[in-house]
Amino acid sequence: MGQPVAGNPTQYMMEKAFAKAGLDWRYLTLEVAPEGLEDAIRGMRAMGFKGGNFTIPHKVAVIPLLDELSEAARLMGAVNCVNRVDDRLIGENTDGKGFVESLRGVAEPEGKKVVLLGAGGAARAIGVELGLSGAADITVVNRSAERGEPLARLLSDEVKVASRLVVLEGDYAIPEDTDVLINATSIGLGDAAARVPIDVNSLREGLVVADVIFNPPQTRLLRDAQEHGCTTLDGLGMLVNQAVIGFKIWTNVDADAGVMREALEEFLGI
Ligand code: NDP
Repeated sequence: MGQPVAGNPTQYMMEKAFAKAGLDWRYLTLEVAPEGLEDAIRGMRAMGFKGGNFTIPHKVAVIPLLDELSEAARLMGAVNCVNRVDDRLIGENTDGKGFVESLRGVAEPEGKKVVLLGAGGAARAIGVELGLSGAADITVVNRSAERGEPLARLLSDEVKVASRLVVLEGDYAIPEDTDVLINATSIGLGDAAARVPIDVNSLREGLVVADVIFNPPQTRLLRDAQEHGCTTLDGLGMLVNQAVIGFKIWTNVDADAGVMREALEEFLGI
């Protein structure tokens, strides 16, 4: 275990991957206040940036400033990746794709029954992308109905995947026919002991349990899942894969995912 590196994890991964691919490109981290977003986009165009990643609070606000959206970004109503093609800025969302790519390392999403904990930005991106990738059924489990309802409705009405909301009350017991359980809440962020409200005795062999939390990557949920014989997937894979996908979108070159994973672990000091 080393010392964490200061800065931004995606920047760190991208810079290492540019070097590995022999590309003389730079990935800059630029902080933009909400009122400066429009000017920043104009600046991107004027300076000929190839693209960029956008994070909170810009993921939704950037949409009217772009020329086009991918289907996933349109459905999610959020953009985390912009690509310039000629003079057009195209909004993408690579968060959900990064998750699905990571999932494919242990299970194909097609036909799977999924329990998705959470209904924020990460859950929305994952739910839409799983639906577009052929998942059979997605149960959204969320603390508040305010955010849970619109996600379940989006999935069933627009993404056309069977979906419903379960509002959290006490510990949620994972239904026996579930193939994949995903924690897409912020529970566990910065706290390896934080407990996701599920009945741990409903975890069983054969279930894939994924966590979006990447810091620390060994969450309590993943430790419980391992003890119950589940296949587990940490949040590092999702983060690495969204960077691999962004790299390809901008450069049209396949990034070295191993170099990116190593860079991320070095960045986090793990
Ligand atoms: P949001 O704030 O949009 O959503 C948070 C979600 O967590 C909501 O569904 C919220 O429920 C739920 N939640 C938070 N605290 C509790 C609690 N105590 N009990 C029950 N539910 C709770 O966050 P994001 O969706 O943007 O991000 C979620 C996490 O995903 C973050 O920790 C982020 O770091 C991680 N992430 C990881 C990525 C990766 O590549 N690995 C990529 C993107 C995000 P409610 O609606 O009721 O408030």
